[in-house]
Amino acid sequence: MALNFGTVSSGLDLETTGKRGGNFGLAHSDNRFAFSTIQSPLGVIRGGDGPTALVCAGNHGDEYEGQIIVRRLFEMLEPDDLAGRLILAPALNMPAVQAISRTSPLDGGNLNRSFPGQAYGGPTREIAGFVATQLMPLADVAVDLHSGGSGSDYLDCAYLCLSNDPARNAQTRDLATVMGLANTMVVPPSDTPGDFDGSAHAAGCAMISCELGGEGKVSLRALEAGWHGVLRILAHSGVLNAAAAQRLGADTPPKTRFLDLGAEADTITAQSHGLIEPMVQIGAPITAGQPVARLRNLHDLAAAPDTLFAAKDGILAILRAGAIVAPGDHFCVICPEISDARLDALLQQTGQP
Ligand SMILES: [Zn+2]
Repeated sequence: MALNFGTVSSGLDLETTGKRGGNFGLAHSDNRFAFSTIQSPLGVIRGGDGPTALVCAGNHGDEYEGQIIVRRLFEMLEPDDLAGRLILAPALNMPAVQAISRTSPLDGGNLNRSFPGQAYGGPTREIAGFVATQLMPLADVAVDLHSGGSGSDYLDCAYLCLSNDPARNAQTRDLATVMGLANTMVVPPSDTPGDFDGSAHAAGCAMISCELGGEGKVSLRALEAGWHGVLRILAHSGVLNAAAAQRLGADTPPKTRFLDLGAEADTITAQSHGLIEPMVQIGAPITAGQPVARLRNLHDLAAAPDTLFAAKDGILAILRAGAIVAPGDHFCVICPEISDARLDALLQQTGQP
């Protein structure tokens, strides 16, 4: 049965036992693509009737660790390794991947703000709709692999995106714990409307996303942490046989540290144009009042630099990659650790007054 949403379609059989690689194609007509379909890889490996995992990357085109991990899964796994089914999409927003860009060069769309998508609503919203309507409903668990991209560097972290459903939140914490990245960012509900996470939750999937380094490069540290984390999630979810997970290097998850990317996080933002000089490194513990950067006027050698200070204690979790800034550009985000008790309370919140 063909998969179809708007002008996006795939003839790949996702049902039959076996291993198949194909693609989904986006029809988009401009000068370059007047007589083309923009194809993005889509693969399936089915061993048995167990649960289905959907593992995606390339949601943002300039984030690479996940794109490698998803392609590696297809290369290294066979149907006998799986109790269930694995659906793999390593380059969700292929126009952005090909353009080495976070967003699509076709319509400027940010795929991770375009869910649940719209048929005939432009290329990026059409891809989102294809994923949301054709792939997510098949999945028991979904994994969306990100990195910081060209613009920022992240501590390796899972994203625990809170919902208003305590049972769903407990499930996401389990996935973050099993994934075992060094950190887990706890993100308030609806922090980024239109993202993959919210759409997967709406489709009924367990869901985890993550950030694996950044700066538009491939970090071997982040790549291997993500690889082992994904293998543990697939085994934990009953998709991947334990023997296969072990063969590929899955081990006991390291303990993750939960950080608050909600109201308690401290975002430090430039308020003038200039050249920014970091005074701290990513991962450093920061105390309130500590200077974190100097910002220099590009044109006036005699002007004294401005100093940017932290307002709160925490861990420097996200750091800007570019050194030239304008007012409103974020330099870094400092996230406090979350105690087990506070995390329990956040997971229980329903959003009801
Ligand atoms: Zn991303």
